[in-house]
Amino acid sequence: MRRTKIIATLGPATDDPAILDRLILAGADLVRLNLSHDAADVHIRRARVLRQRAQALGREVGILVDLQGPKIRIGKFKDRGIDLQDGDRFVLDMDLALDAGTPERVGVTYRQLAQDVASGDTLLLDDGRIALEVEEVKGPGIYCRVVSGGRLKSGKGINRQGGGLSARALTDKDRADMSTAAEIEADYLGVSFARSAADMQTARELFRAAGGRGGLVAKIERTEAVEAIEEIIGVSDAIMLARGDLGVEIGDAALPRLQKRIIGLARRMNKVAITATQMMESMIESAIPTRAEVSDVANAVLDGTDAVMLSAETAIGEYPVAAVAAMDRVCREAEKEPLALVTRDRRALRFKRVDEAIAMAVMFTANHMPVRAIAALTESGSTALWMSRITSTVPIYAMTPYVQTQRKVTLYSNVYPASFDLSSSDPAEIMREAVAELRRRDVVSDGDLVILTIGEPLKTPGGTNSMKILRVGAPLTAE
Ligand code: PGA
Ligand code: MN
Repeated sequence: MRRTKIIATLGPATDDPAILDRLILAGADLVRLNLSHDAADVHIRRARVLRQRAQALGREVGILVDLQGPKIRIGKFKDRGIDLQDGDRFVLDMDLALDAGTPERVGVTYRQLAQDVASGDTLLLDDGRIALEVEEVKGPGIYCRVVSGGRLKSGKGINRQGGGLSARALTDKDRADMSTAAEIEADYLGVSFARSAADMQTARELFRAAGGRGGLVAKIERTEAVEAIEEIIGVSDAIMLARGDLGVEIGDAALPRLQKRIIGLARRMNKVAITATQMMESMIESAIPTRAEVSDVANAVLDGTDAVMLSAETAIGEYPVAAVAAMDRVCREAEKEPLALVTRDRRALRFKRVDEAIAMAVMFTANHMPVRAIAALTESGSTALWMSRITSTVPIYAMTPYVQTQRKVTLYSNVYPASFDLSSSDPAEIMREAVAELRRRDVVSDGDLVILTIGEPLKTPGGTNSMKILRVGAPLTAE
């Protein structure tokens, strides 16, 4: 079994339902719908087909709807692109129509940009491939000198090195897209370019008001987000290391250490971490990844990430299924490394909640006894979340009747969703059924030890208050 989860971004390359089937079978646990591209109805259709295929295959696959956010872009060139030479002068013109770019000047989607930058600033275009130094800001014009030239195509993104642009996190398009996300029944909503905890709280309120019920993912891709990381993690369900834009703002060399620090922090704060962007980038055009990409995915696993994500590799790449298969292979192998099993059992911490204490006791026991599996009988999935913060090779089954909970836990490291009827009023019968379910899944057989958690009285969300260690095949009361 693979503990680390795989997120595959859907796009034109995965629109064939047969490819989608193969993507799921190759190991995609969740898909991402990236609202930076394509119209709402395209995403709604993709989500519908995904749900159909997942159901046909008997899998729960989560959906992460990723808002575009205030990505600042240049306008279009009359020709499709221009060539900038080092030393050239180039103007970003707030007054120029967005379709009127020339080799000398181009419009910008964020008209306040001229107020946000000053001479001496470095502006990075197209994920840093082109660098401009601001020489002067005069009226609506940002007058630049090309520091690092090359081909510049229409619509490329602009970041300022060091961050600090004032564009608010939730654009009008994002607000409208919340309804699309709600209609899709998104299990997670990605908030791009979040700057602060307040941005995340606003996003949550708007998403709930639009009817959305999924978890909130803060995409860490701005300098300000790194500075406010604890507050942001505190009010989010998950964070994404959005290394594409983050690397541009904060410098690529800072990414590995931030990745380690932020993943560790998220886990300690009982939140979920996703590592994203350029993980298997060369597989957009190549059937196999580079050694560096293999190492990157493996190192994200060793860092303790819950999930690794594919972007263009699956959305528009030539080898979407092979990319998922490569991630699957690399994660499994990395998970064998003892370093991937280093866990902090939190012995020095004090627990605030009963379900948290039970979850910690379960994991301590599972890691110190030959336990085959853990079954968390859960309403909201929170017990499984607590458990999954402790690294273990013992799989955690989140057994729940709620499809929403089943899909939510697809993102948690080492947690596997299981549909389970909790309607019986007899805890002993429920526990017998849970063991029978594990047996049906070939997870356990006679003689194996399993740990069950349950809340009594039944049906209280967050009410887990007991743990039972059972030997499969023996009468329930024997252990
Ligand atoms: P994006 O976010 O793919 O939506 O740009 C991820 C990143 O910036 O790394
Ligand atoms: Mn981004």
